[in-house]
Amino acid sequence: QSKTEGRGRLQVFDPTLLKALDSQRKLERMLRTAIQKNQQLSLVYQPKVDIEGQCKGAEALLRWEHPNDGSISPEEFIPVAESSGLIVLLGERVIEEVCKQIRNWLNQGWLGECKIAINIASQQLADDEFKPKLLATLNQYQIHPNQIELEVTESSLLHDIQGTVAKLKALQQEGFTIALDDFGTGYSSLSYLQELPLDVLKIDKSFVEKLTNQSASELISSIIAIGLNMDLQVVAEGTETESQVTALANMKCSLFQGYHFGRPMPAEEFANWYQRTNAVH
Ligand code: C2E
Ligand code: MG
Ligand code: MG
Ligand code: MG
Repeated sequence: QSKTEGRGRLQVFDPTLLKALDSQRKLERMLRTAIQKNQQLSLVYQPKVDIEGQCKGAEALLRWEHPNDGSISPEEFIPVAESSGLIVLLGERVIEEVCKQIRNWLNQGWLGECKIAINIASQQLADDEFKPKLLATLNQYQIHPNQIELEVTESSLLHDIQGTVAKLKALQQEGFTIALDDFGTGYSSLSYLQELPLDVLKIDKSFVEKLTNQSASELISSIIAIGLNMDLQVVAEGTETESQVTALANMKCSLFQGYHFGRPMPAEEFANWYQRTNAVH
């Protein structure tokens, strides 16, 4: 009996899987150290602009520069942060850093209508301490919730839709703007979309990429129409070219985030970019 068990186990732990597990664990250790040291991780800010090119907001995005391994993409480390539970602590750091930055910019006398968006992982939202901690941090820096947009993905809704809806409603009532990120890539069901307390729909860049394709264009156009019919602000992610912007604008998309307007930038660079962009009319 033990022999067959042993054989079964050997089959499961094939070398490639072992290697993958090993690199996950290594990444997790490295990430834990980075969070503890609080040196290698930083935030960049990517503008969200209207059709006139005016900045209406920015998304805070994590960057990780490892002393030996160089820059590690969030596409790589966010999943590890999520599977290891480190995302809760990391997410708190992000919120604190964003609040500190907003306070800084407000003190400099700008930012105003420009909201800063923060990505919130499903584990963070599921935590009952999330809202009180968030409010405490905002209070510490004297920031109003209307300065902040919370980006959640459809995966937050997978386990407990009713619970998540209630949590998002409470956050929206506090004054936070709620955005559904990467729309169209998850397990979207149009039936729950109307149950969600949303303000913003972010169309995933994988759709924008396919804009030259006729049937894809019709799909994007329909997605935008759904958002607008629900009175949501629609943001297109990953707009890299002028022609994408034109096509999206014709579909009545009102906000754009992408390399065509601005890449994610370190705080100071974003501040300079903002002054330059929003000064000219
Ligand atoms: P996301 O929230 O959907 O963020 C948009 C991603 O699209 C960012 O990737 C951004 O750099 C990229 N992007 C923006 N414009 C363009 C463009 O024109 N072309 C292309 N090719 N890409 C564009 P990034 O920074 O690599 O982040 C990847 C994902 O990692 C984010 O996707 C988000 O899900 C996650 N992430 C990043 N920072 C955080 C964080 O602080 N907390 C959590 N929970 N997740 C984060
Ligand atoms: Mg996002
Ligand atoms: Mg997104
Ligand atoms: Mg995306």
